[in-house]
Amino acid sequence: MHLISTFAFAFLQAFHFINAEDFGYDGVRGPTYWGERYQECRGKHQSPIDINILRVKQVALPDISFVGFDDSIDDVHVTNNGHTVLIEVDNEPHPRVSGGPLDGDYIFSQMHFHWGDNDTFGSEDKINHRSFPMELHMVFFKEEYKTAQEAVKHSDGLTVLAFFYELDRHKHPAYDDITAALANVTEPHTTVVMSHPFSILNILPYDLNRYFTYRGSLTTPPCSEVVIWLDFEQPVRLAHDQIEAFRELRSATGKIRHNFRPIQPIGDRVVFYNVDNKYFNYNEVDNPDEDNTQRRKRGHNRSNVTLAKDSPRTALNAV
Ligand SMILES: [Zn+2]
Repeated sequence: MHLISTFAFAFLQAFHFINAEDFGYDGVRGPTYWGERYQECRGKHQSPIDINILRVKQVALPDISFVGFDDSIDDVHVTNNGHTVLIEVDNEPHPRVSGGPLDGDYIFSQMHFHWGDNDTFGSEDKINHRSFPMELHMVFFKEEYKTAQEAVKHSDGLTVLAFFYELDRHKHPAYDDITAALANVTEPHTTVVMSHPFSILNILPYDLNRYFTYRGSLTTPPCSEVVIWLDFEQPVRLAHDQIEAFRELRSATGKIRHNFRPIQPIGDRVVFYNVDNKYFNYNEVDNPDEDNTQRRKRGHNRSNVTLAKDSPRTALNAV
């Protein structure tokens, strides 16, 4: 357990920096100036990007294996690091992912959020120029590199599972424990342990089959180009108040009203769009009167979305 804590700490050093004043999102510490101190922030394969659905390459990748995502995790630490809120776990073994575009196994390191001043923007990646009010990044490092610190030296060192949020009239009950914890870490460099066990699967959307994937970078300095991004198409739905709770967090210089990096050039990169034709699109049902609880129940019964493989419905016209 101590070893893992060391991994996590080393990773924080690499990914978010110890000194909260190293970078920010406004003024002379803002994204425009990151490249002056961190050369890689001027690279050609940076994140985030705006994904143009007309330019993606449709693929049917192997299924992703999500291991430990439905485990009940006891020791969940919630930390305000001055840039965002981090969620880390002590439980062994850590959750892991493999399959999809990934070669090998990737071990969970931490997750964190990016948001905006109001509900009209805040995500980092965009889909067809659309911003979402918030985005979740679940960061994993490649097992063969042993530590996150070592992994960030390799072009396939990290994978980030990214999930977008959109507004719902109803609260998402699985997020109540997170927003309750936020109230106890409003000051920078504070940590609390979550009061109830936590299951990763409960905070994710139910369609984990449709996603975009591309090669990019960390979206904070040092902007290392070491990330295989997976952006899941189906957003998680939260109530306005649940998103607003994140905007109460403070950095050393005041409230963290926004913490997303602007869009970077896509350059010569190709974005792949994974569509498994066995599955029907969630867009088929979007009943505004259905609350999150009903949706989650439906989501846990994924057999009801199975369709024949020769469905004439194609990925692009389904979006
Ligand atoms: Zn992030």
